[in-house]
Amino acid sequence: MASRAYKDEPTVIKVGGLTIGGDTVHVMAGPCAVESRDQLLEAAQIVKEAGATLLRGGAFKPRTSPYSFQGLEEQGLEMLAEARERTGLCIVTEVMDPRSVELVARYADILQIGTRNMQNFFLLREVARAGKPVLLKRGASATIEEWLLAAEYILAEGNRDVILCERGIRTFDDYTRNTLDLTAVPVIKYLSHLPVIVDPSHAIGKWRFVAPMSRAAIAAGADGLLVEMHPNPAEALCDGPQSLNPANFRALMQELGGFASLM
Ligand code: PEP
Ligand code: MN
Repeated sequence: MASRAYKDEPTVIKVGGLTIGGDTVHVMAGPCAVESRDQLLEAAQIVKEAGATLLRGGAFKPRTSPYSFQGLEEQGLEMLAEARERTGLCIVTEVMDPRSVELVARYADILQIGTRNMQNFFLLREVARAGKPVLLKRGASATIEEWLLAAEYILAEGNRDVILCERGIRTFDDYTRNTLDLTAVPVIKYLSHLPVIVDPSHAIGKWRFVAPMSRAAIAAGADGLLVEMHPNPAEALCDGPQSLNPANFRALMQELGGFASLM
């Protein structure tokens, strides 16, 4: 069902008043984690004014260490909903556990499946049934075929609204956090009708390389970007080193506006 053989027309996903896929380019931006009401509302304002259309922010965080900040959970979801009300931005946020799908779906416009859960098949099925579009990140060690088969779990459950997100894969190099596999963009476009976006922040892990790889992603044909932006990256509880500050985010948005018609 994910293949071009099944359906040749690009899938266009409607969310809020937006369409994702087809000829649009959307920027989803915001902090790695929702940390406080002030932090999130400030981030939302910056994201909105710079011209992005979706606000990202994790309320449930998949952290490598159990001692790291794990997210504000439902309080964080409430803050995301307030930010949507104030700015009109659509909300994309991660769901990690089948038991919290219903809760997260009450607040989110798009449900994100993180890289660590790409092959959590029970979670995929549960998320598919929530009736919201799903942003499916590529597993850090997943082949393109495994990624498309993970999407297939959601499609087979009757949910057609899957957005694929390339977010870097594990390679031998460790200068960057992961290796951004930009070849995935044209390859997915060739194999599948599903929209594909790129997350340069988690792929690279260092903010100074986010802008050039964002430009490259759009040039490669991505339907959008997922970018981490924090009002004050030095104080971020999560992923500060890869988060753009407001000035750098605005500069990126201006640049992108020069060669993509951002929606
Ligand atoms: C995130 O988007 O904050 C995140 C945890 O991403 P990933 O699952 O790609 O590591
Ligand atoms: Mn992050």
